[in-house]
Amino acid sequence: MRRLVIHAPLDLRVEEDAEATVLGPQDVLVRIGAGGICGSDLHYYRHGGFGTVRLKQPMVLGHEVAGTVSAVGAMVKRVRPGDRVAVNPSQPCGACNYCAAGVANHCLDMRFYGSAMRYPHVQGAFRDVLVCNEAQALPIASHVSLGQAAFAEPLAVCLHAVRQSGGIKDKRVLVTGSGPIGCLLILAARYSGAREIVATDVVDETLAIARTVGADQTINAAATPEKLKAFAANKGTFDVGFEASGSAEALTGAIDVVKPGSTIVQVGLSGGALPIPLNMIVSKELSLRGSFRFHPEFAEAVDAIGTGQIDVAPLLTRTVPLQEAISAFELASDRRRAMKVHLAFD
Ligand code: ZN
Repeated sequence: MRRLVIHAPLDLRVEEDAEATVLGPQDVLVRIGAGGICGSDLHYYRHGGFGTVRLKQPMVLGHEVAGTVSAVGAMVKRVRPGDRVAVNPSQPCGACNYCAAGVANHCLDMRFYGSAMRYPHVQGAFRDVLVCNEAQALPIASHVSLGQAAFAEPLAVCLHAVRQSGGIKDKRVLVTGSGPIGCLLILAARYSGAREIVATDVVDETLAIARTVGADQTINAAATPEKLKAFAANKGTFDVGFEASGSAEALTGAIDVVKPGSTIVQVGLSGGALPIPLNMIVSKELSLRGSFRFHPEFAEAVDAIGTGQIDVAPLLTRTVPLQEAISAFELASDRRRAMKVHLAFD
Protein backbone atom coordinates (compact mmCIF):
# COMPACT_ATOMS: atom_id res chain seq x y z
CA MET A 1 0.00 0.00 0.00
CA ARG A 2 1.01 3.60 -0.58
CA ARG A 3 1.17 6.41 1.95
CA LEU A 4 2.00 10.10 1.67
CA VAL A 5 4.92 11.08 3.91
CA ILE A 6 6.28 14.55 4.70
CA HIS A 7 10.02 14.44 5.49
CA ALA A 8 10.85 18.15 5.58
CA PRO A 9 9.46 21.36 4.03
CA LEU A 10 8.69 20.71 0.34
CA ASP A 11 9.91 17.11 0.69
CA LEU A 12 6.71 15.12 0.23
CA ARG A 13 6.94 11.50 -0.93
CA VAL A 14 4.57 8.71 -1.92
CA GLU A 15 6.07 5.64 -0.24
CA GLU A 16 5.27 1.94 -0.22
CA ASP A 17 4.55 0.15 3.02
CA ALA A 18 3.34 -3.31 4.04
CA GLU A 19 -0.39 -3.73 4.65
CA ALA A 20 -1.60 -4.71 8.11
CA THR A 21 -2.56 -8.36 8.19
CA VAL A 22 -3.64 -8.87 11.80
CA LEU A 23 -6.60 -6.91 13.16
CA GLY A 24 -7.31 -6.36 16.86
CA PRO A 25 -10.80 -7.30 18.09
CA GLN A 26 -12.19 -3.77 17.62
CA ASP A 27 -10.12 -2.81 14.57
CA VAL A 28 -11.58 -1.91 11.20
CA LEU A 29 -9.61 -2.04 7.95
CA VAL A 30 -10.65 0.85 5.69
CA ARG A 31 -9.66 1.25 2.04
CA ILE A 32 -9.35 5.02 1.82
CA GLY A 33 -11.16 6.57 -1.14
CA ALA A 34 -10.89 10.34 -0.63
CA GLY A 35 -8.71 12.59 1.49
CA GLY A 36 -9.04 16.35 1.89
CA ILE A 37 -5.91 18.50 2.07
CA CYS A 38 -6.23 20.75 5.13
CA GLY A 39 -4.48 24.01 6.00
CA SER A 40 -2.37 22.16 8.57
CA ASP A 41 -1.22 19.63 5.92
CA LEU A 42 -0.16 22.62 3.82
CA HIS A 43 1.73 24.12 6.77
CA TYR A 44 3.69 20.88 7.22
CA TYR A 45 4.35 20.81 3.48
CA ARG A 46 5.43 24.45 3.15
CA HIS A 47 7.07 25.17 6.52
CA GLY A 48 7.48 21.84 8.35
CA GLY A 49 4.87 22.86 10.93
CA PHE A 50 3.12 25.86 12.46
CA GLY A 51 3.68 27.86 15.64
CA THR A 52 5.62 25.67 18.06
CA VAL A 53 4.50 22.44 16.33
CA ARG A 54 7.43 21.18 14.21
CA LEU A 55 8.19 18.00 12.31
CA LYS A 56 10.82 16.00 14.17
CA GLN A 57 10.51 12.80 12.12
CA PRO A 58 8.85 11.74 8.85
CA MET A 59 5.07 11.72 9.19
CA VAL A 60 2.16 10.49 7.09
CA LEU A 61 -0.12 13.49 6.49
CA GLY A 62 -3.90 13.62 6.41
CA HIS A 63 -6.91 13.60 8.71
CA GLU A 64 -9.93 14.35 6.46
CA VAL A 65 -10.66 10.92 4.98
CA ALA A 66 -13.43 8.54 3.98
CA GLY A 67 -13.34 5.04 2.55
CA THR A 68 -14.81 1.55 2.38
CA VAL A 69 -14.54 -1.08 5.11
CA SER A 70 -12.75 -4.17 3.78
CA ALA A 71 -12.31 -6.25 6.95
CA VAL A 72 -13.27 -6.08 10.63
CA GLY A 73 -11.96 -7.51 13.90
CA ALA A 74 -13.75 -10.29 15.79
CA MET A 75 -15.67 -8.01 18.19
CA VAL A 76 -16.67 -5.24 15.75
CA LYS A 77 -20.42 -4.56 15.73
CA ARG A 78 -20.90 -1.09 14.26
CA VAL A 79 -19.72 -1.70 10.70
CA ARG A 80 -19.34 -4.55 8.21
CA PRO A 81 -17.16 -5.13 5.16
CA GLY A 82 -18.57 -3.11 2.27
CA ASP A 83 -19.83 -0.25 4.46
CA ARG A 84 -18.69 3.18 3.34
CA VAL A 85 -17.49 5.30 6.25
CA ALA A 86 -16.24 8.73 7.25
CA VAL A 87 -13.22 8.27 9.51
CA ASN A 88 -12.96 10.36 12.67
CA PRO A 89 -9.23 11.19 13.03
CA SER A 90 -9.58 11.95 16.73
CA GLN A 91 -8.59 9.26 19.23
CA PRO A 92 -9.05 10.57 22.79
CA CYS A 93 -7.88 8.25 25.59
CA GLY A 94 -11.32 7.92 27.17
CA ALA A 95 -9.79 7.77 30.66
CA CYS A 96 -8.47 11.22 31.60
CA ASN A 97 -10.34 13.97 33.49
CA TYR A 98 -11.24 15.83 30.29
CA CYS A 99 -12.54 12.72 28.54
CA ALA A 100 -14.61 11.94 31.65
CA ALA A 101 -15.99 15.49 31.63
CA GLY A 102 -17.17 15.15 28.01
CA VAL A 103 -14.60 17.53 26.54
CA ALA A 104 -12.48 14.92 24.80
CA ASN A 105 -10.98 17.50 22.44
CA HIS A 106 -8.89 18.51 25.48
CA CYS A 107 -7.79 14.92 26.20
CA LEU A 108 -4.43 14.75 27.97
CA ASP A 109 -3.37 11.84 25.78
CA MET A 110 -5.00 12.75 22.45
CA ARG A 111 -3.84 10.97 19.33
CA PHE A 112 -4.96 12.89 16.24
CA TYR A 113 -4.03 11.64 12.76
CA GLY A 114 -1.24 13.45 10.98
CA SER A 115 -0.29 15.65 13.90
CA ALA A 116 3.23 16.49 15.09
CA MET A 117 1.90 17.93 18.38
CA ARG A 118 3.19 14.87 20.21
CA TYR A 119 6.34 12.83 19.74
CA PRO A 120 6.56 10.27 18.28
CA HIS A 121 4.15 11.97 15.86
CA VAL A 122 0.75 10.42 15.22
CA GLN A 123 0.88 9.06 11.68
CA GLY A 124 -1.87 10.29 9.35
CA ALA A 125 -4.52 8.85 7.09
CA PHE A 126 -3.34 9.65 3.55
CA ARG A 127 -2.73 5.97 2.77
CA ASP A 128 -4.42 3.30 0.68
CA VAL A 129 -5.32 1.23 3.73
CA LEU A 130 -5.99 2.47 7.27
CA VAL A 131 -6.59 0.47 10.45
CA CYS A 132 -8.79 2.36 12.93
CA ASN A 133 -11.01 1.58 15.89
CA GLU A 134 -14.65 0.86 15.05
CA ALA A 135 -15.66 3.93 17.08
CA GLN A 136 -13.87 6.07 14.49
CA ALA A 137 -15.68 4.65 11.45
CA LEU A 138 -19.10 6.26 10.89
CA PRO A 139 -21.26 4.81 8.10
CA ILE A 140 -22.46 7.32 5.53
CA ALA A 141 -25.74 7.49 3.61
CA SER A 142 -25.81 5.52 0.34
CA HIS A 143 -26.15 8.62 -1.86
CA VAL A 144 -23.21 10.43 -0.21
CA SER A 145 -19.92 10.22 -2.11
CA LEU A 146 -16.65 9.49 -0.32
CA GLY A 147 -15.56 12.98 -1.38
CA GLN A 148 -18.52 14.55 0.41
CA ALA A 149 -17.92 12.33 3.43
CA ALA A 150 -14.32 13.52 3.66
CA PHE A 151 -15.73 16.96 4.55
CA ALA A 152 -17.15 15.60 7.82
CA GLU A 153 -13.97 16.44 9.77
CA PRO A 154 -13.62 20.13 8.83
CA LEU A 155 -17.40 20.54 9.06
CA ALA A 156 -17.24 19.12 12.61
CA VAL A 157 -14.66 21.79 13.46
CA CYS A 158 -17.17 24.42 12.31
CA LEU A 159 -20.18 22.93 14.09
CA HIS A 160 -18.08 22.94 17.26
CA ALA A 161 -17.25 26.61 16.68
CA VAL A 162 -20.96 27.42 16.37
CA ARG A 163 -21.52 25.62 19.68
CA GLN A 164 -18.73 27.69 21.25
CA SER A 165 -20.56 30.88 20.20
CA GLY A 166 -23.45 30.10 22.54
CA GLY A 167 -25.96 29.82 19.70
CA ILE A 168 -26.68 31.90 16.61
CA LYS A 169 -30.36 31.38 15.83
CA ASP A 170 -31.79 34.56 14.25
CA LYS A 171 -28.49 36.38 14.79
CA ARG A 172 -26.38 38.55 12.51
CA VAL A 173 -23.11 36.76 11.93
CA LEU A 174 -19.72 37.89 10.64
CA VAL A 175 -17.25 35.37 9.20
CA THR A 176 -13.71 36.66 8.60
CA GLY A 177 -11.58 34.50 6.32
CA SER A 178 -13.56 32.60 3.69
CA GLY A 179 -11.29 29.68 2.86
CA PRO A 180 -12.51 26.11 3.42
CA ILE A 181 -13.11 26.62 7.15
CA GLY A 182 -14.74 30.03 6.60
CA CYS A 183 -17.06 28.60 3.94
CA LEU A 184 -17.92 25.61 6.15
CA LEU A 185 -18.62 28.10 8.97
CA ILE A 186 -21.06 29.85 6.62
CA LEU A 187 -22.77 26.52 5.91
CA ALA A 188 -22.79 25.63 9.63
CA ALA A 189 -24.15 29.07 10.55
CA ARG A 190 -26.96 28.82 7.99
CA TYR A 191 -27.76 25.28 9.20
CA SER A 192 -27.85 26.60 12.78
CA GLY A 193 -30.38 29.32 11.98
CA ALA A 194 -28.33 32.49 11.48
CA ARG A 195 -30.45 35.37 10.17
CA GLU A 196 -27.78 37.18 8.20
CA ILE A 197 -24.21 36.23 7.28
CA VAL A 198 -21.54 38.64 6.08
CA ALA A 199 -18.21 37.13 5.02
CA THR A 200 -14.85 38.75 4.40
CA ASP A 201 -11.63 37.71 2.71
CA VAL A 202 -8.88 39.31 0.65
CA VAL A 203 -9.38 37.08 -2.43
CA ASP A 204 -12.36 37.68 -4.75
CA GLU A 205 -12.44 34.09 -6.07
CA THR A 206 -12.84 32.83 -2.52
CA LEU A 207 -15.62 35.32 -1.80
CA ALA A 208 -17.54 34.14 -4.87
CA ILE A 209 -17.70 30.64 -3.35
CA ALA A 210 -18.70 32.13 0.02
CA ARG A 211 -21.76 33.63 -1.71
CA THR A 212 -22.52 30.30 -3.39
CA VAL A 213 -22.65 28.52 -0.01
CA GLY A 214 -24.86 31.10 1.67
CA ALA A 215 -23.17 34.38 2.58
CA ASP A 216 -25.70 37.22 2.17
CA GLN A 217 -22.95 39.73 1.56
CA THR A 218 -19.21 39.44 0.98
CA ILE A 219 -16.54 42.08 1.44
CA ASN A 220 -13.01 42.15 0.10
CA ALA A 221 -11.36 43.53 3.25
CA ALA A 222 -8.18 44.51 1.37
CA ALA A 223 -9.81 46.23 -1.63
CA THR A 224 -12.84 47.80 0.08
CA PRO A 225 -12.17 48.04 3.85
CA GLU A 226 -14.68 50.91 4.12
CA LYS A 227 -17.51 48.46 3.43
CA LEU A 228 -16.63 46.54 6.59
CA LYS A 229 -16.02 49.77 8.55
CA ALA A 230 -19.62 50.81 7.85
CA PHE A 231 -20.76 48.01 10.15
CA ALA A 232 -18.99 49.72 13.08
CA ALA A 233 -21.79 52.31 13.31
CA ASN A 234 -23.56 52.54 16.68
CA LYS A 235 -20.80 50.48 18.35
CA GLY A 236 -21.26 47.55 15.99
CA THR A 237 -23.73 45.48 14.00
CA PHE A 238 -22.98 41.77 14.42
CA ASP A 239 -24.20 39.57 17.26
CA VAL A 240 -21.50 36.94 16.71
CA GLY A 241 -18.16 36.82 14.89
CA PHE A 242 -16.25 33.79 13.63
CA GLU A 243 -12.59 34.49 12.86
CA ALA A 244 -11.15 31.88 10.51
CA SER A 245 -8.08 33.60 9.06
CA GLY A 246 -5.74 33.78 12.04
CA SER A 247 -4.70 37.29 11.00
CA ALA A 248 -4.45 40.26 13.37
CA GLU A 249 -6.09 42.57 10.82
CA ALA A 250 -9.14 40.34 10.52
CA LEU A 251 -9.56 39.95 14.28
CA THR A 252 -9.14 43.69 14.84
CA GLY A 253 -11.69 44.37 12.11
CA ALA A 254 -14.14 41.96 13.72
CA ILE A 255 -13.71 43.53 17.17
CA ASP A 256 -14.61 46.86 15.59
CA VAL A 257 -17.91 45.73 14.05
CA VAL A 258 -19.47 43.35 16.61
CA LYS A 259 -21.98 44.71 19.11
CA PRO A 260 -21.06 45.33 22.78
CA GLY A 261 -21.43 42.16 24.82
CA SER A 262 -21.06 39.83 21.85
CA THR A 263 -18.79 36.84 21.29
CA ILE A 264 -16.05 36.36 18.73
CA VAL A 265 -15.08 32.73 18.21
CA GLN A 266 -11.46 32.38 17.12
CA VAL A 267 -11.14 29.33 14.88
CA GLY A 268 -8.08 30.20 12.79
CA LEU A 269 -4.61 29.57 14.22
CA SER A 270 -1.82 32.08 13.74
CA GLY A 271 1.89 31.64 13.10
CA GLY A 272 2.68 33.25 16.47
CA ALA A 273 1.52 35.90 18.96
CA LEU A 274 -0.85 38.56 17.59
CA PRO A 275 -1.33 42.16 18.68
CA ILE A 276 -4.97 42.68 19.64
CA PRO A 277 -6.84 45.87 20.63
CA LEU A 278 -7.31 44.85 24.25
CA ASN A 279 -9.04 48.06 25.33
CA MET A 280 -11.78 47.53 22.76
CA ILE A 281 -12.43 44.06 24.19
CA VAL A 282 -12.64 45.62 27.66
CA SER A 283 -14.82 48.61 26.80
CA LYS A 284 -17.22 46.69 24.53
CA GLU A 285 -17.32 43.83 27.06
CA LEU A 286 -16.59 41.29 24.33
CA SER A 287 -15.98 37.60 24.80
CA LEU A 288 -13.11 36.26 22.72
CA ARG A 289 -13.47 32.50 22.71
CA GLY A 290 -11.26 29.87 21.14
CA SER A 291 -12.56 26.80 19.35
CA PHE A 292 -10.37 23.73 18.88
CA ARG A 293 -11.26 20.59 16.95
CA PHE A 294 -14.54 18.85 17.95
CA HIS A 295 -15.98 15.84 19.69
CA PRO A 296 -19.70 14.98 19.35
CA GLU A 297 -19.89 17.23 16.31
CA PHE A 298 -18.24 14.64 14.02
CA ALA A 299 -21.35 12.44 14.07
CA GLU A 300 -23.52 15.55 13.66
CA ALA A 301 -21.50 16.53 10.58
CA VAL A 302 -21.89 13.06 9.03
CA ASP A 303 -25.63 13.31 9.67
CA ALA A 304 -26.01 16.83 8.24
CA ILE A 305 -24.16 15.83 5.05
CA GLY A 306 -26.20 12.60 4.78
CA THR A 307 -29.58 14.30 5.16
CA GLY A 308 -28.61 16.99 2.67
CA GLN A 309 -29.07 19.74 5.24
CA ILE A 310 -25.51 20.82 4.50
CA ASP A 311 -24.23 20.65 0.91
CA VAL A 312 -20.44 20.68 0.86
CA ALA A 313 -20.15 19.93 -2.89
CA PRO A 314 -19.51 23.55 -4.02
CA LEU A 315 -16.30 23.60 -1.96
CA LEU A 316 -14.53 20.78 -3.80
CA THR A 317 -12.23 22.29 -6.42
CA ARG A 318 -10.62 19.13 -7.77
CA THR A 319 -9.75 15.53 -6.95
CA VAL A 320 -6.16 14.57 -7.79
CA PRO A 321 -4.64 11.04 -7.81
CA LEU A 322 -2.33 10.33 -4.85
CA GLN A 323 0.55 9.79 -7.27
CA GLU A 324 0.30 13.51 -8.19
CA ALA A 325 0.23 14.66 -4.57
CA ILE A 326 2.78 17.42 -5.04
CA SER A 327 0.73 19.10 -7.76
CA ALA A 328 -2.34 18.67 -5.52
CA PHE A 329 -0.55 20.42 -2.65
CA GLU A 330 0.61 23.21 -4.97
CA LEU A 331 -2.92 23.68 -6.26
CA ALA A 332 -4.35 23.68 -2.70
CA SER A 333 -1.82 26.37 -1.74
CA ASP A 334 -3.16 28.77 -4.38
CA ARG A 335 -6.22 30.48 -2.92
CA ARG A 336 -7.13 32.06 -6.26
CA ARG A 337 -7.44 28.67 -7.94
CA ALA A 338 -8.47 26.35 -5.14
CA MET A 339 -10.90 26.03 -2.25
CA LYS A 340 -10.64 22.36 -1.18
CA VAL A 341 -8.47 19.83 -3.02
CA HIS A 342 -8.93 16.10 -2.50
CA LEU A 343 -6.57 13.19 -3.07
CA ALA A 344 -7.98 10.04 -4.67
CA PHE A 345 -6.68 6.63 -3.58
CA ASP A 346 -7.54 4.18 -6.33
ZN1 ZN B 1 -8.43 11.63 27.57
